[in-house]
Amino acid sequence: MILPGLSRPVGTIWCIGRNYAEHARELGNEVPAAPVVFLKPASSLLLDGGVLRLPPDSKRIDHEVELVVAAGDSLRMAVGIDFTARDLQEEAKKKGLPWTSAKGRPGFAAVGNFVPLALPSELELSVGGQVRQRGSTGDMILSVEMIIEHLDRTYGLAEGDLIFTGTPAGVAPVAAGATIEAMLNGGDSRLRLTVAG
Ligand code: MG
Repeated sequence: MILPGLSRPVGTIWCIGRNYAEHARELGNEVPAAPVVFLKPASSLLLDGGVLRLPPDSKRIDHEVELVVAAGDSLRMAVGIDFTARDLQEEAKKKGLPWTSAKGRPGFAAVGNFVPLALPSELELSVGGQVRQRGSTGDMILSVEMIIEHLDRTYGLAEGDLIFTGTPAGVAPVAAGATIEAMLNGGDSRLRLTVAG
């Protein structure tokens, strides 16, 4: 799949966890010493105008608005939402299991249009017109440069890979019927979704 604003098919979808101190604290997590990295499958991608279908085996799907960076010679960025089945994630953490079931469902990697990377960028997410998350990439613990360097050195990063860079504070559950709008810098990159049960 080639996403709006990109010229190459999507490769691996990398995600960084706990990259804003305030968000790590709101979930009762320690601010990590080493990057927390997880993956999402390509089947979890959802584009602007799409519908997020809530999986029936979770009681709590949270929104996490994030800066998404597309790897390549000239870096590009989009607003994204890392949807998370929080109850399944808590269960996985307790059992020491991977987060795939909590992070990898259809629609759980939502991305808007890609534009040239410009930092710092302001992130905002509203549900039904009410702002729920607002943050600046300037507050990230690991910078975009550090994340790229880490992923490339540890795993090997390829052109077309996407990187979800972590969410600021304010994550909250979404309900069927909700409309979600997320943007970067007041609308350079924009994402509108509806939620269905
Ligand atoms: Mg996240």
